[in-house]
Amino acid sequence: MPTRALSTAGESAVVDALGRNREPAWRARQIQAAVWQPFVDGFEGMRQLPAALRTALAAEFEFSTLTVDTEMPADSGLTLKLLCRLADGQTIETVAMETPGRDDSRRRSTVCVSSQVGCAVGCPFCATGHMGLRRNCSPAEIVDQVRAAGTALHRRGLGPVTHIVYMGMGEPLANVAATLESLTVLTRDAGISARRITVSTSGVAPAIAQLAAADLPVTLAVSLHAATDALRDRLVPINRTYPLGVVLDAASRYAERSGRRISFEWCLIGGVNDSIEQAEGLRDLARRTQAHINVIPMNRIDGSPWGPPEPEVARRFLAALQGARVTVRDTRGGDADAACGQLRADLEARRILRPDGTLSPPRVPARA
Ligand code: SAH
Ligand code: SF4
Repeated sequence: MPTRALSTAGESAVVDALGRNREPAWRARQIQAAVWQPFVDGFEGMRQLPAALRTALAAEFEFSTLTVDTEMPADSGLTLKLLCRLADGQTIETVAMETPGRDDSRRRSTVCVSSQVGCAVGCPFCATGHMGLRRNCSPAEIVDQVRAAGTALHRRGLGPVTHIVYMGMGEPLANVAATLESLTVLTRDAGISARRITVSTSGVAPAIAQLAAADLPVTLAVSLHAATDALRDRLVPINRTYPLGVVLDAASRYAERSGRRISFEWCLIGGVNDSIEQAEGLRDLARRTQAHINVIPMNRIDGSPWGPPEPEVARRFLAALQGARVTVRDTRGGDADAACGQLRADLEARRILRPDGTLSPPRVPARA
């Protein structure tokens, strides 16, 4: 059984393996390039390597730490939701979204990765929060989601991956060591600049400082959802440990050190955080920290009576944000982003997914 994940093994481990197989060290570069080619989906596909070396590498390295169990296209094929199965049978979601280029912008392919199986933070409006935390993802499990999504996009004539968001299942900064290692690999080996990566957090303040110290200038998105501690304690329970002031201090320091504008995520929930007072509080916090605001109308989930506000209420909320920089996620973006955790919940409800996270037979066939 191979024990090492290929995507995070590092060049020296590959060079060592080449040495043991009496192959020149320069092949490490060839292998590294092949790891990130979306059309290569196993050692067998590394045609530029001698067959004996391919077999030797397969015995030592795991080509990928996950397999794609289901692939669900949405939005006329521009969004692909993947359910990825990990070696221990646990499943996580990965979403790939294609944004066609317009006159003023280039085409983008964004991959939304999961950082944990479940999440311990327990936000009541979030499907993943309802699961609790099963376990952390390893650095390779995070990185391999990007590779698997790249391959899935490629098969449909889409991609390559240009942007990555850590907005899938889990709290990336509660798994900060793996998140940092995955960011190092993605920026170094996958050729994706830190400027095109967003890490979204519910506000693990000490880990925001760790991210700042790593000097990987990714965009930091803070899932705010409330402008007062009283409301945020309910909506984002980690606020009881790291209240707003502490989180915003850490976020401001991050912005200073990285030179990157931070963003605030606001899942707009009817009758819960859609008041004019909350909007004004949000606007003031955003102005003070020069943050960009992303408003995401809540996607309904099983197990929560909450949902998006009436359009008129949403309009008033947005009008009260005037003076701040605001983006409202279009239905597709919102749909696809918030779907992280929901695809899994759907399968669970249909009893395709067992309570322990493994898939019950018959397996859902991957769609070609
Ligand atoms: N744990 C991290 C990242 C994953 S969640 C965080 O909370 O930031 C990614 C984003 O999706 C967060 O902003 C989260 O609040 C939002 N989200 C979760 N459930 C949602 C729902 N039902 N509708 C809309 N947005 C949701
Ligand atoms: Fe965890 Fe983020 Fe969901 Fe909150 S919104 S439960 S932090 S994944």
